[in-house]
Amino acid sequence: MTLRVAIVGRPNVGKSTLFNRLIGKKLAIVDNNPGVTRDRRVGDADLWGLKFTLIDTAGYEETPNGHLQSAMQQQTQLALDESDIALMLVDARTGILPIDRAFAKVMHRQSRLTILLANKCEGAAAEAGLLEAFSLGLGDPIAFSAEHGLGLKPLYDKLRSAMAQISHSMHQLEDADETSQAYENYASDPTRAMADSSPQNPQNNPPPQQKPIQLAIVGRPNVGKSSLVNKLLGEERMLTGAEAGITRDAIALDFAWRGQQIRLVDTAGLRRQARIDGKIESLAAAESRRAIKYAQIVVLVLDADDMLEKQDLSIARHIVEEGRAMVLVVNKWDLVQNPKRSLRQLSDRLQTSLAQIKGVPVVTVSALTGYNLDKMMDAVGEIYQKWNRRIPTSRLNNWLAGVTAHHPPPLAAGRRIKLRYITQARNRPPGFALFASLPEKLPESYLRYLENTMRQDFDLWGIPLRLMIRKGHNPYAKNT
Ligand code: GDP
Repeated sequence: MTLRVAIVGRPNVGKSTLFNRLIGKKLAIVDNNPGVTRDRRVGDADLWGLKFTLIDTAGYEETPNGHLQSAMQQQTQLALDESDIALMLVDARTGILPIDRAFAKVMHRQSRLTILLANKCEGAAAEAGLLEAFSLGLGDPIAFSAEHGLGLKPLYDKLRSAMAQISHSMHQLEDADETSQAYENYASDPTRAMADSSPQNPQNNPPPQQKPIQLAIVGRPNVGKSSLVNKLLGEERMLTGAEAGITRDAIALDFAWRGQQIRLVDTAGLRRQARIDGKIESLAAAESRRAIKYAQIVVLVLDADDMLEKQDLSIARHIVEEGRAMVLVVNKWDLVQNPKRSLRQLSDRLQTSLAQIKGVPVVTVSALTGYNLDKMMDAVGEIYQKWNRRIPTSRLNNWLAGVTAHHPPPLAAGRRIKLRYITQARNRPPGFALFASLPEKLPESYLRYLENTMRQDFDLWGIPLRLMIRKGHNPYAKNT
């Protein structure tokens, strides 16, 4: 099966030129006037043996002033709906415009894999725009030139790994055609994406009730996951939707908790299977992996009687590696004789075994009595907000100036390492690109200091966070 790749971006960033370059035939009219190309084109691309179907959205620019409302929402959305991967183009020569940011926000809400191309990078004039493109939150931009064929190799590499990732998840969906269709519907849900991109919704920080939090409840067998789910749903009795199949083994349960929409990824099917087969341990691992994959926030349930044993730790590490936010829930608290001692024990184990996720919320609950379930859900909402954080570039750079003044980076071969510019390059979880004069010389200890200060100053404890060091300049300052 060939994958479908859509080219998106505001008018005049070079979409048609890219399309022509990848298709290898001059099919489209390319002109320097926005909106010249009209028809939507689809072609078979072959990039060094990597075959895919390419969809160009340049023809959709036929709207007054290229308004995002009409151009993006009604038309590009259609192309996105039928594609697996999106190539988003920006013009690095003109820099990032508000409309590029609006496009990026729409892309954030897609489940598509998005590859960001900073086009027109053939000259020095593009450097500032290239660095600015990091702030779109779509990962590292590729320095690209559709016209000069620059950046094709990194594009090839990213496409290849994106395709491998997609075929891998398809493979995971196994033989269930119907359920994989259901998953696609669930994952893309175009009606939701359309609603989100409407301009009357302020897009900076969408109110939490707008989109459901995708939540998974995982843990070893018998810690009380099913009991917890039943109690949650039973207490609330506000099941808003029917069960939707995600895969053969996972379903989505929609409910509301105090006005917050929750989509619970439940893998009860796998669990039942495990009991029938008696292969509880190995299937339990598969079950939590699967649930983690479809979730944003993961509740890791521990048994108060035996907290943070080996299997708990390995699930916890997997959650963090996958970039999901975690809430640790200690269940069966009703059975605990000496709560103080148990809490001390838990905190010791957290420090010795899970130091890398300092600040993860811990809630003691009882699925049996319902004790603290509201606290657990509050913790889920709070960590979701953190995991979703976007920090404006100006705030980050003010912060960087303060931190480096207070504690300057060390000297490297007699020269002071300069930290020039920082911007949030990824979302959910937040990831930051930091541009330095001698990135390879920055000691690990200084990076840890920066990360800790950042967590402290922006209240980012308890979530996975990435700080990526790059070589580069401040795009806004002269002579740095
Ligand atoms: P799962 O395998 O993680 O889904 O675990 P279950 O929900 O099936 O629970 C395993 C056992 O623990 C069952 O016998 C439950 O009744 C019991 N259990 C679950 N939660 C609690 C709790 O909070 N307190 C007590 N005392 N027992 C619980």
